[in-house]
Amino acid sequence: MPDKLGFIGLGIMGRPMALNLRRSGAELFVFARRAESLVPLTAAGAIACASPADVGYQADIVFTMVSDTSDVEQLLLGSSGVIEGVRPGAVVVDMSTISPAATRRIAARLGELGVEMLDAPVSGGERGAIDGTLSIMVGGSPEAFERVRPWFERMGRGILHIGESGAGQVCKACNQVVIGHTLAGVGEALLLARASGVDPARVREALLGGFAQSRVLEVHGRRMLQGDYAPGFKASLHQKDMRIVLETAAQIGIALPGAAVFAQYVNALVGRGLGELDSAAIHQVQIDMCGPREP
Ligand code: NAP
Repeated sequence: MPDKLGFIGLGIMGRPMALNLRRSGAELFVFARRAESLVPLTAAGAIACASPADVGYQADIVFTMVSDTSDVEQLLLGSSGVIEGVRPGAVVVDMSTISPAATRRIAARLGELGVEMLDAPVSGGERGAIDGTLSIMVGGSPEAFERVRPWFERMGRGILHIGESGAGQVCKACNQVVIGHTLAGVGEALLLARASGVDPARVREALLGGFAQSRVLEVHGRRMLQGDYAPGFKASLHQKDMRIVLETAAQIGIALPGAAVFAQYVNALVGRGLGELDSAAIHQVQIDMCGPREP
């Protein structure tokens, strides 16, 4: 019998990921708190459920792709949550970016019922979700990973089992440290060029051909030059990710000063009420710190 799949969280990322599962022919049960989020999925043949518990009851493998740690806790363990419907032998796969420590606690709770949990956060953005080319970093048992792997392959390309429960979320936190440093660095480079009277677009082009080349320079550098901050990856979510990074660092007692600096840029951006913009908009904070400059 082929797996029955469940998917909860049909936002920028979850919608295209769930659609890719459905297009591969999977029987798919979905839940969203806003009816309009369900429309593209039900139009593609997915079955709408009345609650996360109902998704848990129907599906052998339940995917979640929601915003924050508290959302995952509520959907999985809360009232009418997946835990109220799910059966022993099922696998819950959380693909949101949340706290590694909370992930281990949730996995332990589900484990008491004979339900395995994988943490499988992703990188690659909306484009990767649409194209099915996400990088997927997985924590949990190797057996559960192998069971879900064929479905991961419908959503991503770089699919790696990192280690035990929580290891996927730690890997994602590491990813966000690199992205944060690089975003701040790209913004500073463009600022330096502009303030020196040098065309920042030419500088970006030159850097793309050398050792400073990166996807962040390419994609977010372009957004910074054009001032086009349609998300993409919302600054409010990036703020949440940096909170996870810095809380984890505090829990284990290590210093991550570079990550802390980037987190301050994001705090300033979100504090101005601009949390819905793409996080590349931290460049605007950098510009404002230095005063207006001619392009
Ligand atoms: P999003 O567009 O805001 O979507 C989040 C979805 O989760 C929304 O549909 C939201 O429903 C739903 N949701 C949140 N809390 C819920 C709850 N308690 N109960 C039911 N539904 C809930 O965010 P996204 O960009 O798809 O990001 C989702 C996750 O992926 C986040 O953890 C993010 O950090 C991670 N991520 C995002 C990107 C990216 O580029 N966007 C890349 C990698 C990883 P409503 O519509 O009703 O609010």
